[in-house]
Amino acid sequence: EEAPIVIIGAGVAGLTLATFLHTAGIRCVVLERRDRAYVETRQRAGVVDAQNVRMFERWDLADRLLSGPVAQTIEYRVNGVGRVFEILGDEASEGRFCTQQMLVTNLLRVLIDEIGGDVRFGVSEITIRNEDAVRPQVGYRDAGGAHAIDCDYIAGCDADRGVSRASIPDGVLTTITHEFGYAWLAALVEAPVTGHPIMGISDHGFVAQLPRGPKRSRYYLQCALTDGPEDWPDERIWDEIRLRTGDSALENVEIHDKDFVPLRSVMRFPMQHNRLFLAGDAAHLVPPTGAKGMNLALFDVDMLAQALVSALCDGEVAALAGYSDTVLPRLWRYQEFSAWMTDTMHDAGNPALHGPFRQMTARARLDELFSSPVAGRLHSDFQRGVA
Ligand code: FAD
Repeated sequence: EEAPIVIIGAGVAGLTLATFLHTAGIRCVVLERRDRAYVETRQRAGVVDAQNVRMFERWDLADRLLSGPVAQTIEYRVNGVGRVFEILGDEASEGRFCTQQMLVTNLLRVLIDEIGGDVRFGVSEITIRNEDAVRPQVGYRDAGGAHAIDCDYIAGCDADRGVSRASIPDGVLTTITHEFGYAWLAALVEAPVTGHPIMGISDHGFVAQLPRGPKRSRYYLQCALTDGPEDWPDERIWDEIRLRTGDSALENVEIHDKDFVPLRSVMRFPMQHNRLFLAGDAAHLVPPTGAKGMNLALFDVDMLAQALVSALCDGEVAALAGYSDTVLPRLWRYQEFSAWMTDTMHDAGNPALHGPFRQMTARARLDELFSSPVAGRLHSDFQRGVA
């Protein structure tokens, strides 16, 4: 079998790339180890930022994939006292509310059901041939046995633990990692955000409440790296939410799931080797504080799709050769923003974390967002993804 492009991974990066390529008239095969129901129901955070709304508009897919307007405010709350930050921008630069799970479900519908895209679920044992001067080949297994696809290019969109990056020989990639030293407990609850999305700083640690649809929201609570579900029964979660938000009247409601996420940054580059190109979490991770992981994956995919279209439709390979160099400067800027958010939100809370000096300077940094128009503007630009 032959296909111009094989994409490994049907997450937000792989499905968006496949949809863009199909839109441009390029055939591709997507290989995913899970089944469709699993991919559609996998709980994932993330809201499409304004920059990526513009991107979907450019590919003429925004109305088929995205939902209505998103909150243009964030309440920064310190020990129960909130200040509402207005994300500055004009109407033409607003984000739209579409969680990652909604986006993935819509991508599957458009790609498979509407434009006949080729997504093969439930595959295993993917092997990658990607040597210099040999035509690339991707092998895999499914219920029907072993298969192989000869292709021109391979896109590795199978996140941090996938096979794509692992297939690159030792010594080719540089990896830079930063550990923040704490984790988040993510709890999906049966209660909507009633006011503004909250980023809460407190002497007892960080808390956030972010919208996840009309009836639900997700709370994030700073916790120890070693914590697990046994340390956080539901009663303790609600006690800590009341303590950290300063909202003592808040009532317990049902908690649907609990997840523990270590906060870390990872960059791996170059994001390409011979004919294999990495996009999204396969190449980089950001701490969730800045809400940028999915948005950076979408940026990679936009650049990669344009470069693949140039190579396959016009025989012009310069953009593909320069893919990694093109995306890396922006990825580093958003790593810096994510680290800024993470340090500020956590240091400004409990002084036991990094001491009273870091606490007070972090609070001063937060104040600047409200007192300095320049700082407020820059923060808005990062929030909207246009910095
Ligand atoms: P994924 O979505 O992980 O998709 C990878 C796909 O590859 C999966 O379908 C997987 O099954 C498949 N796969 C893996 N291995 C193989 C294999 N061997 N063979 C075949 N298929 C394979 N981002 C934001 O923008 N905003 C946020 O607010 C936000 N909040 C977050 C909060 C938390 C707690 C976390 C953990 C993340 C958050 N993110 C957020 C980040 C975002 O979820 C990720 O950056 C995004 O999912 C990356 O997309 P991806 O397509 O690269 O990877």
